[in-house]
Amino acid sequence: MSEVTELFGQNVFTRGKMKERLPKNVYRELIRVSERGGELSMEAANVIAKAMKDWAEENGATHYTHWFQPLTGITAEKHDAFVSLPDEDGRMITEFSGKELIKGEPDASSFPSGGLRATFEARGYTAWDITSPAFLKESSCGVILCIPTAFCSYTGEALDKKTPLLRSMEALSEQALRIVRLFGNTDATKVTPCVGPEQEYFLVDADLYMQRLDLMFAGRTLFGAPAPKGQEMDDHYFGVIRERVGAYMKDLNEELWKLGILAKTQHNEVAPAQHELAPIFDTVNIAVDHNQLVMETMKRVATRHNLRCLLHEKPYAGVNGSGKHNNWSINTDNGVNMLDPGDTPNENLQFLLVLACIMKAVDDHADLLRQSAADVGNDHRLGANEAPPAIISIFLGEQLEDVVTQLVETGVASSAIQGGKLETGVSTLPDFEKDATDRNRTSPFAFTGNKFEFRSVGSSDSIASPNTILNAIVAEAFDEAATILEGADDFEMAVHDLIKKYMTEHQRIIFNGDGYSDEWVAEAARRGLPNIKSMIEAACALTTDKSVALFERFKIFNRTELESREEIIYETYAKTINIEALTMIDMAGKQIIPAAVKYSGELARTVNEVKAAGVNAAAEDELLKKTIGYINDAQTAYNKLKEVSAQAVTVKDGKERAFYYKDVVKSAMDELRSPCDELEMIVDKSMWPIPTYAELMFEV
Ligand code: ADP
Ligand code: MG
Repeated sequence: MSEVTELFGQNVFTRGKMKERLPKNVYRELIRVSERGGELSMEAANVIAKAMKDWAEENGATHYTHWFQPLTGITAEKHDAFVSLPDEDGRMITEFSGKELIKGEPDASSFPSGGLRATFEARGYTAWDITSPAFLKESSCGVILCIPTAFCSYTGEALDKKTPLLRSMEALSEQALRIVRLFGNTDATKVTPCVGPEQEYFLVDADLYMQRLDLMFAGRTLFGAPAPKGQEMDDHYFGVIRERVGAYMKDLNEELWKLGILAKTQHNEVAPAQHELAPIFDTVNIAVDHNQLVMETMKRVATRHNLRCLLHEKPYAGVNGSGKHNNWSINTDNGVNMLDPGDTPNENLQFLLVLACIMKAVDDHADLLRQSAADVGNDHRLGANEAPPAIISIFLGEQLEDVVTQLVETGVASSAIQGGKLETGVSTLPDFEKDATDRNRTSPFAFTGNKFEFRSVGSSDSIASPNTILNAIVAEAFDEAATILEGADDFEMAVHDLIKKYMTEHQRIIFNGDGYSDEWVAEAARRGLPNIKSMIEAACALTTDKSVALFERFKIFNRTELESREEIIYETYAKTINIEALTMIDMAGKQIIPAAVKYSGELARTVNEVKAAGVNAAAEDELLKKTIGYINDAQTAYNKLKEVSAQAVTVKDGKERAFYYKDVVKSAMDELRSPCDELEMIVDKSMWPIPTYAELMFEV
């Protein structure tokens, strides 16, 4: 056995292990419920819990936890030991019941609920997500049995990211089945969205990290002059992986394989000290759980190598930030990927209908899709100084765009452009069959062969929301199409008409050009496509009548749940920027300005001494004036930032307060950063109190 086969799934209570350890009837019941839904009997739950505990204990576990994904965007766990009351002889018997497996009640009043729950009504329940396998987490706590769960309030509202995702999967499955049925697929019983998320991250030396309050509290640098070298040489992307980083990646892969995560690809990314890991795609709710574990494991393993892993979307100004490419496809349980066009997409009616529906879904709900990729850090990327743009559009590539154009113009697509041969021009190299379509790196939503790649998602964000939205909007388009087509007298004719209609009405969402260009911003405005620049401007997309109707139609969210989520967005935003502002005040007030003042004192003494020696002190004089100038600017900006941050509490309304932070506090932060970064460029290096960009990015 190779190392990978041995490690893989070691810490997962896989189906194989369950099959081995459970009585046949219990195993069958478990599979039935996990694939078809329904409730597990308490007898079966007890048997499964016992088997799970035995397996966990054999592997060193002492505790179990219901592992869930509250609206903080990360995961939560509360450990309970398997210990119970000792028997008469004082002997410990460990216990874990079916009831404890299925349901938990964390006193979880301190999670964000957006007003769904007052602290005096703090009941929240966790319920076992039987579709995601239990696993063992190894850490300094020992070994913990983790049971993936959904988290709901006493009144049944979702308080987490998993519940709506599971609801959206069911909605998509139901509607997609109607579509495949229309094309004669009677065998499929379920349709599942699959996702492969590519995860970008930065590594930084832990000792340097500990000297930067901004990295510790905000996850990104709030000050920092550019290093002499950035990413302009394109020498980091796919570059040779440095020894220390390589050792980290090896360790990380092994930990992920143990957790049954299909870590597959690793490489250096564009910015210095930036890297990427991609797993093989999986069912979306598993992919969401796994992505959380990937992020957590990345951080944990980093500490072993005296590194810190930065998942923030923009750790450093002036070089690329990090995102997550969410590769999404829709698959029937009899092996059809509904996004596979085949060799002749122009003849593949089912594919064309699916494509037309996705064009409609993305165009109708571009605001929601945009919102689903919003988080505080991602404001530095989407629509700010970095790609991808905040404008949602679809890249189809040459072949499909040509098919769409033919359909829109003539109602039929008689041909599909083929890739042809790529001739290398070297006799010893093989010629290739080319793909029919080149790639595009600037589109937020790109068709890549047999899947869509949603590229706007932030690197630190959960991928639950983007996928919930994708599933929901496409379910809605499928539903509408299926209803029209199921009622048609002449199916062939109706399907052609509908494809043409949708593609014509929604052609404006297709854009194959450079998504980073200013021309596209102007062109998108002409087309009437929304360009939503920030997280808090995107938040209200959740509660428009159109969105509420969509989500209520498929029972994914009710209005109250949506309103609470919008509220949490404003709250999260305000709190995050507040932490950033306070961190800046701390660093500028206690480190940067004092260092510059000390340096200016030294300069002043030098000026006097040089003059006293009867020598011209013009250079020292100029330097002193410059330093004092920036210190004055910094001190003024520091006072202003203190003042505006303090005033934030007087803005009572949550939404207004968030906008106050965006419009007032953030610009005061920019004003403080600028003179401090100037000072960094002139103050004596030995007096500069914090590690610089050069050290942070190049000393890994
Ligand atoms: P890249 O886009 O960097 O060339 P790939 O296309 O190989 O890389 O894959 C990127 C991610 O997309 C991987 O996580 C991969 O497993 C995933 N992926 C590949 N095929 C599909 C599919 N049919 N559905 C969902 N994800 C997929
Ligand atoms: Mg990719």
